[in-house]
Amino acid sequence: MSEITLGILGGGQLGSMLSTAAKKLKIRTVIYSDDKNAPAQNFCDEFIFGEYSNKNQIYEFVKKVTVITYEFENIPFETLNEINKLKTVSPKPSIIRLIQHRLAEKDFVNKLNIRTTRYVSVEKKSDLDSLEDFLPGILKTTTMGYDGKGQYPIKNLEQVDTLNIDFSKEYILEKLVKLKKEVSVIITRFGNNKYEIYEPIENIHENQILRKSMIPADLDNKLIEQSKEWSIQISEELKYIGTLCVEFFVDRNNNLYVNEIAPRVHNSGHLTINSFNVSQFENHVRAVCSLEQIPLKKLYNAEMINLIGDEIKTYRQNLNLKENEFFFDYLKKEVKHNRKMGHLTRLK
Ligand code: ADP
Ligand code: MG
Repeated sequence: MSEITLGILGGGQLGSMLSTAAKKLKIRTVIYSDDKNAPAQNFCDEFIFGEYSNKNQIYEFVKKVTVITYEFENIPFETLNEINKLKTVSPKPSIIRLIQHRLAEKDFVNKLNIRTTRYVSVEKKSDLDSLEDFLPGILKTTTMGYDGKGQYPIKNLEQVDTLNIDFSKEYILEKLVKLKKEVSVIITRFGNNKYEIYEPIENIHENQILRKSMIPADLDNKLIEQSKEWSIQISEELKYIGTLCVEFFVDRNNNLYVNEIAPRVHNSGHLTINSFNVSQFENHVRAVCSLEQIPLKKLYNAEMINLIGDEIKTYRQNLNLKENEFFFDYLKKEVKHNRKMGHLTRLK
């Protein structure tokens, strides 16, 4: 075992895969989650169940670890900020505060002269009346959304009343992009101009949930370079430490847009576990624990398929994998509709 104990806030599948990567590097992991059934407790060395606002319990967690990271972006900023006074939190908490808010995130990207979708803030229902220009569009809660949760596609103003939108929340309205495809770029930054970057990954969504990811992405060289350059620019500007994912849209005229930034390891990067010499998870652990940076090498092309809801059942019962297939069961106790339960990676 190394001297380092890594604390991870959040106990979902990303926490599990981070723990597995840490174990390979002989680093102990302690996970803190507000879900007593958090699946990552099956993979980490120690698990603490508690609310993110419970200061005493958070303090007990902090005492046990050397460095702290997080596996989802909806951890309260205040919690991360308090922890950061005692031990290093990577990526730094101010990044979370920026990215937790869709408006602040998009303003940040635009200030770098990087293209995003057209967007506007919506604070009350009547704001929509003058925003016909942004339709068809998607109304999204500014905070706490994931996997399409808190999102309302809107075709026209007449439709708004039928959607039962909770206007006590703040929203952002985004003009719908006529998508040709979606890609993501995963980058791990170790320090000033020190990073490892994966090639763009092509992503297919169904009902706003990721269904399938694959490399290589079917993308012009120009867009491959532009998406990588923008990802480097974003991570340098944030002075980011760890693994970050930038999600992109490509429209029918081959324009590239940044959709959103995930300040963490990302679902589209699960295929890196089997197809690269160093996975996005291992790279994250290496960066936040200040371990050696290893040059990335692709070993295989690959595709990854998310197993959503009931789909996990056939795989759990009848594991008939080919030699090039890898099945991951997140060991979630309850199968729920639209819940990511596991994934399958197929090497090409
Ligand atoms: P989440 O935080 O839930 O991942 P996203 O903003 O990434 O939210 O939206 C989820 C998916 O919905 C996107 O990957 C894309 O498929 C679709 N989508 C979101 N916004 C737009 C848009 N402005 N134009 C076209 N498709 C969109
Ligand atoms: Mg997204």
